[in-house]
Amino acid sequence: MSKIPHRLYLTEEQMPTQWYNLRADMKEQPDPLINPGTMKPAQVEDLYPVFCEKLAQQEMDAETRYFDIPEEILEMYKIYRPSPLIRAYNLEKALDTPAKIYFKFEGNNTSGSHKLNSAIAQAYYAKEQGLAGLTTETGAGQWGTALSEACAYFGLPLTVFMVKVSYEQKPFRKAVMETFGSSVIASPSETTNIGREILKSDPTTGGSLGCAISEAVEKAVTSPNHRYVLGSVLNQVLLHQSIIGLETKAAMEILGEYPDVIVGCAGGGSNLGGLIAPFMQDKLTGKANPRIVAVEPASCPSFTRGKYAYDFCDTGRITPMAKMYTLGSDFKPSANHAGGLRYHGMSPILSKLYHDGYMEAVAVEQTKVFEAAVQFAKLETILPAPESSHAILGAIDEALKCKESGEAKTILFGLTGTGYFDMTAYSSYNEGTMSDYIPTDEDLERSLATLPKIPGIQE
Ligand SMILES: *Cc1c(COP(=O)(O)O)cnc(C)c1O
Repeated sequence: MSKIPHRLYLTEEQMPTQWYNLRADMKEQPDPLINPGTMKPAQVEDLYPVFCEKLAQQEMDAETRYFDIPEEILEMYKIYRPSPLIRAYNLEKALDTPAKIYFKFEGNNTSGSHKLNSAIAQAYYAKEQGLAGLTTETGAGQWGTALSEACAYFGLPLTVFMVKVSYEQKPFRKAVMETFGSSVIASPSETTNIGREILKSDPTTGGSLGCAISEAVEKAVTSPNHRYVLGSVLNQVLLHQSIIGLETKAAMEILGEYPDVIVGCAGGGSNLGGLIAPFMQDKLTGKANPRIVAVEPASCPSFTRGKYAYDFCDTGRITPMAKMYTLGSDFKPSANHAGGLRYHGMSPILSKLYHDGYMEAVAVEQTKVFEAAVQFAKLETILPAPESSHAILGAIDEALKCKESGEAKTILFGLTGTGYFDMTAYSSYNEGTMSDYIPTDEDLERSLATLPKIPGIQE
């Protein structure tokens, strides 16, 4: 029997040339976005002041199954794609499991994450529309970096609102973004109305993604010919990230493999949504039935302890409302949380699929996540991002279950990125000063009490 290679790269000819839109195969659609101005379902034109037009159209499109990837985007994808599908032989051996463990590694680009896949698409459509510039937010910094790379490539000015705790913890992330020509502002800032308001009510706040989003949206709509772009959560982002799953499925087909279990970390849901897309298609159309497991931090447990409800995507409550698993747009994970994935909400597509029983979710504590990260790094030589390490831990748990049951399952997980800018967190883990924080029920009740009321829809 020939041994399966350690890594498989598709050739350029084998690379997907279309994105796959999961909604086209969903039996029931996610509930529509609600325009907070009218309290009615948002129309595509409602999104044009905030998003560029092609992206707003992708956001609202539940019918088109496949979208051709424009040539210019394919050309840039070819600079760093395909990403490898890797068999974690050493990890399997160390766990003494009969399971086969595969992972798709998205960290081989300067952003150190999968986020470049959508950043390129969003910058391309903005350029095509003739926009003067873009604004965005970034938490840990990967999205800001990815978008900076893409904007530099297409020659578009970019302003990034970076969550203040990250801005202070990760000065090198800021330096990378500035190297690509972006302007980076710590959020909350004095440069927007909403930033000034938040600072007035809480002067020492470390900020949050929800708050940085509010600032970025305000900046976009008050600057001529600018638009806002977002790196996760949205339907359009899951569409672009389907490249991950499509490549993975093609590579597994070449190997004659199919996953029994697919594990991914979940912040806003974009990498997981992208990785599972073609496998979920099989599930929705009855061709196969892989288990799908989302792994989220216990400190920001949207799926496992959140509510499936309409909520704002930002703290300032200026974005459309989305029906999703949410902890409340005011929720801020504890400052000792280093593991990324700190967004209060979750992709409406994944939320709907989870709600309808197509996937599972688990919440894990960050010290365990770092333990898995270090074990993985030593065995497989990749220093994983803390976010990605949630998926590693999830995959290890699945492999250990196989060890107990003696089942030789095929496990696939998404390794979304590298952790070179997370060394403060690794140091605190190494020094034994990292702690776990799990919000109390009262904490969650407090933030969930702020869910919006929508007449006739959510009272
Ligand atoms: C942003 C990010 C995530 C989480 O975002 P999703 O939208 O849930 O995928 C995970 N891993 C890395 C490396 C990231 O940069």
